[in-house]
Amino acid sequence: MSLNYSDKNTSQIEGHLNGPLFQNALQTIEEAAKIIDCDKNVLERLKKPRRCVTVSVPVRMDDYSVKVFTGYRVQYNATLGPYKGGIRYHQNVDLPEVVGLAALMTFKNSVLGLPLGGAKGGVCVDPTKLSRTEKQNLTRRYASEISSFVGPTKDIPAPDVGTDPQTMAWFMDTYSQEQGGYSQPGVVTGKPVEIGGSLGRNHATGLGVVFVAEKAFENCRIPFAGARIVVQGFGNVGSFAALFSYQRGAKVIAVSDVSGGIFNGDGLNIPELIEYVKINKSIKDFPKSQPVSNSQLLELDCEGLFPCALEGQIDVHNAEKIKAKIIVEGANGPVSNAATKILHSRNIFIAPDVVANGGGVIVSYFEWVQDIMSFFWDEHEIDNRLKSIITKAFDTVVTFRNEKNVDMRSAAMAVSIKRLEKAMLLRGLYPR
Ligand code: NAD
Repeated sequence: MSLNYSDKNTSQIEGHLNGPLFQNALQTIEEAAKIIDCDKNVLERLKKPRRCVTVSVPVRMDDYSVKVFTGYRVQYNATLGPYKGGIRYHQNVDLPEVVGLAALMTFKNSVLGLPLGGAKGGVCVDPTKLSRTEKQNLTRRYASEISSFVGPTKDIPAPDVGTDPQTMAWFMDTYSQEQGGYSQPGVVTGKPVEIGGSLGRNHATGLGVVFVAEKAFENCRIPFAGARIVVQGFGNVGSFAALFSYQRGAKVIAVSDVSGGIFNGDGLNIPELIEYVKINKSIKDFPKSQPVSNSQLLELDCEGLFPCALEGQIDVHNAEKIKAKIIVEGANGPVSNAATKILHSRNIFIAPDVVANGGGVIVSYFEWVQDIMSFFWDEHEIDNRLKSIITKAFDTVVTFRNEKNVDMRSAAMAVSIKRLEKAMLLRGLYPR
């Protein structure tokens, strides 16, 4: 049977919506939409990305050969403001994954109350196999290929897995050279401070995790000072989450990285551990600690568990064994939907990722605002403003959860969809 044009068109779009990440997000969207009795036309629109751009990215390699990579930019929803979301360089990047990530950015920005839509981009490439020159060539051509879709008032990319402040500097320079030849720092965030980046961006996600943790502890009437904290992952998010917890008097009893975990029931000295990792590149064999496996670490007796490494770490296989009273999701998607239900029924409090790790995008938003004003705040002001936005989002979600008696993840998604629903109904449908 042959397809007519519109069937073909639909089946092509549907093909990008089959990724596990997006399907998982859809399930949460639909459940949350039921809780708020979301307008059915709004829900239909929220279940599809607005635009999926696929580009070929030809790159001159160091041996003068040319390799052609595939790049993507998915613009999911721009009801609340310009599209915003990172750029990922990884060999597993494909369109279904980018669609899923772009959807998550839409709902994260909405629940945080930011005036931003959601997007994500990426190139299917293993960046560890590229020289610095090849990475620069790739970034400049990718930036050029998507330049008509991005811009300080349209779509503002940022770093993600495999990209960093240097990548953003090349992206910004390419865009600035092509679009008028003058400096346009507002086209990307996560830039080095010298060219319009924001102070406080490096520690923002870890600090946000701790601001949310303090609220979660207060909510559960457990003092944060003296609480036993376990942190999975000791990279950007995990190391700062551990440091700020330590500085506030919590006892960080265990942390892990890809090499495994370390434990000290009296608390680890986190500033010393950070120095140790700078030299040894890993937490392994840190003095005054004993080794634990990553699965043992998740099941330790503690008040707070901060998974700050990877997705899918707590699922139906270990959810019954978790002893923490509070989980703060520093990583994206560390607790599966099914595990969320089990933990909720066991009265374990989860601060969901869309709020808990929102510190990064909140300070990215500050960077964009500062670039537009050409006026830069000090770090104290950035941290205070971050605290105000992230704790307000947390309070809104807790209030909703208490009113509707649902789990925190559903509450966060429902708050997010409600804000989008209001805005979409006010703006209406173009042309009509
Ligand atoms: P990172 O690469 O700096 O650190 C990741 C850490 O996890 C490393 O210490 C690594 O050794 C460890 N790790 C890897 N595999 C592990 C395993 N099997 N068990 C235990 N530890 C393991 O990454 P990051 O920027 O800290 O990001 C961590 C998570 O937070 C990701 O899910 C990311 O998407 C999410 N996130 C990051 C930011 C940000 O601003 N960096 C913002 C929002 C969400």
